[in-house]
Amino acid sequence: MKHIFITGGVCSGLGKGITAAALGRLLKQRGLKVTAQKLDPYMNIDPGTMSPLQHGEVFVTDDGAETDLDLGHYERFMDENLTKYSNLTSGQVYSKVIANERAGEYLGGTVQVIPHVTDEIKRFIYATTSENTDIDVLITEIGGTTGDIEIQPFLEAIRQIHLEKEASLFIHVTLVPYLKASGEHKSKPTQHSVKDLRAIGISPNIIVTRADEPIKTEIKRKISSFSNIKPDCVIENMTLPSLYETPLMLHKNGLDSIVCRELNLQTPEPDLSEWQNMINRIANRNFSITVAIVGKYVSCWDAYLSVVEALNHAGFVFGARINIRWIDSDTFDNLKDVHAVIVPGGFGDRGVDGKIRACKYARENKIPFLGICLGMQVAVIEYARNVCNLADAHSTEFVPKSVNSAPIIDLMPGQETLINSGGTMRLGAYPCKTLSGSLLQKLYNSSDISERHRHRYEFNNDFRNILTENGMTISGSSPDGMLVEAIELPNHPFFIGVQYHPEFKSRPNKPHPLFLGLVEAGIAYNKTYST
Ligand code: GLN
Repeated sequence: MKHIFITGGVCSGLGKGITAAALGRLLKQRGLKVTAQKLDPYMNIDPGTMSPLQHGEVFVTDDGAETDLDLGHYERFMDENLTKYSNLTSGQVYSKVIANERAGEYLGGTVQVIPHVTDEIKRFIYATTSENTDIDVLITEIGGTTGDIEIQPFLEAIRQIHLEKEASLFIHVTLVPYLKASGEHKSKPTQHSVKDLRAIGISPNIIVTRADEPIKTEIKRKISSFSNIKPDCVIENMTLPSLYETPLMLHKNGLDSIVCRELNLQTPEPDLSEWQNMINRIANRNFSITVAIVGKYVSCWDAYLSVVEALNHAGFVFGARINIRWIDSDTFDNLKDVHAVIVPGGFGDRGVDGKIRACKYARENKIPFLGICLGMQVAVIEYARNVCNLADAHSTEFVPKSVNSAPIIDLMPGQETLINSGGTMRLGAYPCKTLSGSLLQKLYNSSDISERHRHRYEFNNDFRNILTENGMTISGSSPDGMLVEAIELPNHPFFIGVQYHPEFKSRPNKPHPLFLGLVEAGIAYNKTYST
């Protein structure tokens, strides 16, 4: 197994994750078995307890890990399902070290960052390799930026792995800023960032430069000689109209062949024809529809990253650009001129009234609607209130049972004490049976599906009858029939709510059936109602 370590320099938000994901795809297309992982230096055990406004969405794996959103890029680009071995945080490392210390594992020793913390990081990386013995290449991305205080133990750990394992490679992704006044790109920040890495004993083999415009050869030469890197190992990664073009651009610029050369991997050239066809479809989109996303984190688009990507993937198939209309659930007053509505997942009562209004508007005006997780819950609340005359209907997440005569969304028994604790929700993949004759079953074309979950509250079975008697269909349930997984309205062209998160399983070249259905219905709605 070969290791590729990806670090970031100069600033965060460079698209290191996309570089890692795109490289993963290129190596996969060369016939190699590849997996990827992200090591995050922050102290939370996982991002599950962080505000999406700070950290973007929480990406959930099949095995129920709450992880960094970069894992979504890895899955989408590489088309591989990742696991809990794909994300490690300082919080996990330190809590393990402290638990070990209390258990007497280091008896007699002084517990220190080096070697105890760094050993724990190495153990995680090596555990990934021993769990995945068929893998040829493990790509490990280190979150944060060189120079961050929390990143040091991670850099020290990968430096040691490089010593222990010849077959490893360091790729450093840096910003090359452009100064308008002097009309040139600047190599100095990259030189400094490489200097920082070298000071702790890491000499990058490859530098990937991030810039919005092409960089002159002269600047690349400068980076190469000042950073002691082979000239062809300075590889340009320029901002492109679609992030899915990244693998093709990096291939054109030689990244995968240089990685294989440096790691001594003998492979054929990658077959990128299918990916290229997809890029052609993306480039040839010739009309657009507008989809409203109604949520409370709309100021941070990353909070709904996988939802937006899943919509785009469906749009690629129909040649449609998806304009997202971000609707703040706290303040919006109408949903005019949108062709589809999504109420995505969420937590807490702020904005819930607005989400309920959005469901009502989409239901009454027959606008295609997809409710995801909390979005399904509010769709059920709205229906109970306005169609079933249960005026009090609410979730016990927002109104306690003691004052709620219609707790239509409620906790599962035994969950009461776990609210606000990390890692205690229904997490990861669960099977679901779709109802024969339902739109859900038609879209999936299957009676048995599996989807990823991240929630604590469920549809309350005490209210099943009243809702179904009033026209709502329960179109998906757990195999034992106990948990409602999906609802739909048969007298509406497309009104579906799902308790799970379909967005995590969409791929650019394999769009998710629910998003395909929603976008198709949105296109039909646009044709019918636009003047
Ligand atoms: N807050 C809701 C619950 O915990 C929905 C969660 C979500 O949308 N991911 O059940």
